[in-house]
Amino acid sequence: MRLMRFCLVIAACLFTVTSIAQTAGKISYTIAPWYGNKKAAVSLTFDDGIPGQYAVAVPLLDKYGFKGTFFMSVSIVNAQHISWQLIRDAAMEGHEIANHALTHPHFIKIALDTIALECVESNKQMDALIPSQRMITHAYPFGEGGGNTDKDMAIRKTVAPYFIGARATQNKPYAYNTYDFAKIEDDYYNVNSQMISDSASMANFGKNIDETIAVGGWFCPTYHGIEDGWIITPGKVFAQHLVELEKRKDSVWIAPFKHVIQYHKERNSATLKLIGKKAWRWKLSLTDTLSNRKNYDQPLTINLGTNRLLAKSIVQNKKQVPFKQKGDIVIFDAIPGDGVIELEFEHVYVPR
Ligand SMILES: [Zn+2]
Repeated sequence: MRLMRFCLVIAACLFTVTSIAQTAGKISYTIAPWYGNKKAAVSLTFDDGIPGQYAVAVPLLDKYGFKGTFFMSVSIVNAQHISWQLIRDAAMEGHEIANHALTHPHFIKIALDTIALECVESNKQMDALIPSQRMITHAYPFGEGGGNTDKDMAIRKTVAPYFIGARATQNKPYAYNTYDFAKIEDDYYNVNSQMISDSASMANFGKNIDETIAVGGWFCPTYHGIEDGWIITPGKVFAQHLVELEKRKDSVWIAPFKHVIQYHKERNSATLKLIGKKAWRWKLSLTDTLSNRKNYDQPLTINLGTNRLLAKSIVQNKKQVPFKQKGDIVIFDAIPGDGVIELEFEHVYVPR
């Protein structure tokens, strides 16, 4: 009996060795649709620059560890007397500060070169005011650029060179973006959003997240005033929204707008390749086809088949990468184009 078991083990090992040999150069893997293998993404976005966004919303977000995106118009921030130090502090904590044009004009009514100037000048001023990050996303003032007219399309083309994506206001019959919302590059500059503007949109928040989870999509609510200012969401209601999010955080990746755009673009153009293999060590390269690499540094979540090997360590660009292993799938995050990924395995096999 013992001998038979021994023979079976030997046979299993031989089989594994042969199957490794047969698959040399090939690996089986998936890149998770959303970071952390979550089912959906949510980006909480705030427009204009209104004091309560920093006095009320940021402390509430911090309580849960959620990071928001604040689309700021320089002239509004100054008119509202918001301290740029408060905004710098929010940026340092990982909230995204993003572009909402310099003076919040109606893009529909102004010339395209003026629109370009509004974006460039706003980026320049905010990059100087907030040195810890660069402005790489935009929200159209009054949502003008998110429609289907010739001018809307021209606005998107004008804005595109300065950003990796832009948020519109609601332009779909539903509140979320489906996973395949970006069939062409232009679609990244027309991201659907749900205006939180009245009691109905405030009450639907939990339902909107559930619908987004059901389709594996991305929900991007737009807030204006939190407690003060205009299009006001009471602080209590906003706090309740965060409770609804917290309840679903195992299913939802809650992240700034730019990280979701980065993840989606990187994931849809990335390839993982085996570039070297010894019995207990694999070398992999993760690349994507995006140009302007400095705009794309969001780690992707990789689910890699190990052929029953048990991972011991993963290193990318000489830095240790945390990982989890489930059966013979090892799960880890890696940044495309950020150097060779080296996996070392234990000298044992995962039991079947
Ligand atoms: Zn606005």
